[in-house]
Amino acid sequence: MAVKVGVFGAAGRMGATVCRAVADDPGLELAAAVDPGAAGEKLRTVAGVDSDLEVAGRPEHLLEHPEVMVDFTHLEAARHNLAWCAERGVHAVVGTTGFTEEDLERFRSTFTSSNCLIAPNFAIGAILMMRFAELAAPWFDTAEVIELHHDAKVDSPSGTAMRTVERMAAASDRWADDPTTTHTVPGARGGVGPAGIHIHAVRMRGMVAHQEVLLGATGQTLSIRHDSYDRSSFMPGVVLAATRIAELPGVTVGLDVLLDL
Ligand code: NAP
Repeated sequence: MAVKVGVFGAAGRMGATVCRAVADDPGLELAAAVDPGAAGEKLRTVAGVDSDLEVAGRPEHLLEHPEVMVDFTHLEAARHNLAWCAERGVHAVVGTTGFTEEDLERFRSTFTSSNCLIAPNFAIGAILMMRFAELAAPWFDTAEVIELHHDAKVDSPSGTAMRTVERMAAASDRWADDPTTTHTVPGARGGVGPAGIHIHAVRMRGMVAHQEVLLGATGQTLSIRHDSYDRSSFMPGVVLAATRIAELPGVTVGLDVLLDL
């Protein structure tokens, strides 16, 4: 039986792509769409998907609850949507970025009758990039992360950059000090993440989502780069998560567990 899936943010850039991926997957059924900006409109019109569903303005307006809701919205909206999922025993697959540690704690205490998977990046290549950076971390003294995104991204640094640096910081505590003493232009060295690893956020028209992890040791550097050229790059990960979320009790952060990494 196909898993019934609903989409929060169904008219958004990611949400509309998710609607099409869910509709195209034989193991999933597109059962609901929520987006306040497109309330009452046909999903066919707003997401270009072969479906007769009408977009609901709020999850409270859904007549039937899907087994899984996928959320690619904005931070405040996602907080509300996840509370709704937890209260109703609906599994949540979440791509929205920017959650704090307090958010995660709250989700851990509220998702008791359904499961929640939050992944800062659903692109399988990006998950491998994070894993490779974590494996490389103990072998290098210096590292910096450059994340590059489209010019409509409102938060920085990206959730992927933060997660990468957190994992590298946890993998090694032997990072060299930053030698910079003079900042002619404030911020030129980027933001300082966990373990003092610098993160640089680029926002540029024409880009989608890209990241380069640079690691350096005496006489050598290693560059690990991932590029998402199109939002479809995230869809195999989203479909995998929606298909298997029922197997992952509580709150899971990252898709790694489903890739056996
Ligand atoms: P977007 O185009 O702005 O889409 C967000 C959509 O959510 C909009 O249509 C918005 O409607 C809608 N929305 C707002 N409040 C809502 C609510 N309460 N319930 C349901 N829908 C609501 O943004 P995007 O580029 O798709 O990105 C969305 C999120 O996904 C961001 O946090 C981004 O960082 C993240 N992201 C994650 C990944 C990953 O792999 N994890 C990949 C790409 C992007 P209005 O426009 O009317 O407000």
